[in-house]
Amino acid sequence: MRALHRDTGIVLGHLDETRFFTVVVYSRETRRFRLTPVPCRRPAEGAADIEIRCGACGQELLLRARSAASTARVRRRLLVVALAGLAVAAAAVVAGSLVHLPLADPLGKLVLVVFLLALPVAGAAGWRWWKEDGLRLHAATGGADRVHWRMDAPVPVRAAP
Ligand SMILES: [Zn+2]
Repeated sequence: MRALHRDTGIVLGHLDETRFFTVVVYSRETRRFRLTPVPCRRPAEGAADIEIRCGACGQELLLRARSAASTARVRRRLLVVALAGLAVAAAAVVAGSLVHLPLADPLGKLVLVVFLLALPVAGAAGWRWWKEDGLRLHAATGGADRVHWRMDAPVPVRAAP
């Protein structure tokens, strides 16, 4: 999890080339990026759009930055959802194992469905809580951008429209 400093930044990646290496059934994709560190300053409160420029091609992009307090609020909300999902999944396991609930029983089906729904909700919210840093890369044109990626994220993220 990234610390929420006022002075922060991202690493912008410009996709230079994509190569495919294929042997019969095996295929590997190799991507080469040119990286540009982009420092930025979070707003004191709320959110702000910051214009940034790609160091490789000079294209203008937008970085939507949330304040540290606002990002902390979003993180807290996501953590609550993740913990609630875990608690519901754990309660479904306890209810399913302590009280004998056969699957033919409607209550047994309900407990199984609740368990199967709560677990992915907890996982998705937990992952988003862990990687949320209040910085989003957007294409300045509003269209799809397949060239510019955010490379400092846990998983590289393409610039959003
Ligand atoms: Zn570029």
